[in-house]
Amino acid sequence: MAAHGLPDKFVVWQPMDHCSRFMHAEYCENGHVACSSCCGKIEHKCPSCSWPIGYNRCRAIEKVLEAVRISCSNTKYGCKELVRYSDKKSHESTCIHSPCSCPHPGCNVVSSAGNLYQHFRCKHLDCAVRFQYNRTFNVALDANERFQILQEQDEGVIFLLNNSSELLGNLLTVSCIWHRSFSGFFYDIVAKSQGNSLRLQSFTECTKRRSNSILVTTGFLLVPQNFRNSSNELKLELCIWSKDSFPTNF
Ligand SMILES: [Zn+2]
Ligand SMILES: [Zn+2]
Ligand SMILES: [Zn+2]
Ligand SMILES: [Zn+2]
Repeated sequence: MAAHGLPDKFVVWQPMDHCSRFMHAEYCENGHVACSSCCGKIEHKCPSCSWPIGYNRCRAIEKVLEAVRISCSNTKYGCKELVRYSDKKSHESTCIHSPCSCPHPGCNVVSSAGNLYQHFRCKHLDCAVRFQYNRTFNVALDANERFQILQEQDEGVIFLLNNSSELLGNLLTVSCIWHRSFSGFFYDIVAKSQGNSLRLQSFTECTKRRSNSILVTTGFLLVPQNFRNSSNELKLELCIWSKDSFPTNF
C-alpha cells in the first residue's frame, strides 16, 4: 500500500506527514501526484522531482479515488467498513471500533469499546464499583487514590472517578471510556461530611484511555481537606445518567 492507504497500482501518491484533509489531486509537469492540502506543506515543490506542484488539478485521479473503497484503520479491532477515500476521516472519527485502552493498572489490553467493556467485566470485575444509570450509589474514596473505576451493570460502560490531591483539598471529576468524543454523560456528585455537603453537576469527559493527569475542561468538584473521615476517605454519592439524558432544569 502507498501512503494515504491507497493501493499502489492506482496512483503514485506522495507521502506527507500529518495530512489533515484530502481536497483535490494535483500533479506536477512530470506527472507526479499529491493532494492539494499537502501541496502547501511542501511549498508547492514536488517531493519527487522538485518541479512546481499544486497548480494543476487532476480530475482523472479524483475519479479513481472516488471509485476506490478502502478499509477503515480499525479493521483489526473488528471494523468491516469499506469507505470512500474522502470519507475515511469522518468515518473513523465516529467508528465504534476505535480502539480504547483498559484502564486497569498494568493491563495492556486495547480493543473496541464494546469488547473492552466485556473484557473488564470478565477480568477485573472486583476492581470496579458497579452501578446502574439514574440511580444514586455510594463511593468511599481513599483521599490518596488517583482514581476509582466504575462500571455500569447493564451496558458495561466504564467510567473513572478521577481524584487529584491538592493543597486545598481533593479535585474530583468523572470521565468515561468511550470510542469517540461527545458532550458526555451527565453526572451528579455529592461529597458529605458532618452535616456539610458539596455538589457538582456536570458532563463526563470522554477519553479512549485513562489519563494520569486529571482533565478539567469540564467542571470539577473541590472537596476541602476537612471532608476526609478518620480513615482518610471521602464519602461520595454519585449518580450517572444514561446517555443523552439530563435533568430538565439543567
Ligand atoms: Zn494530503
Ligand atoms: Zn514531480
Ligand atoms: Zn471503522
Ligand atoms: Zn484489562
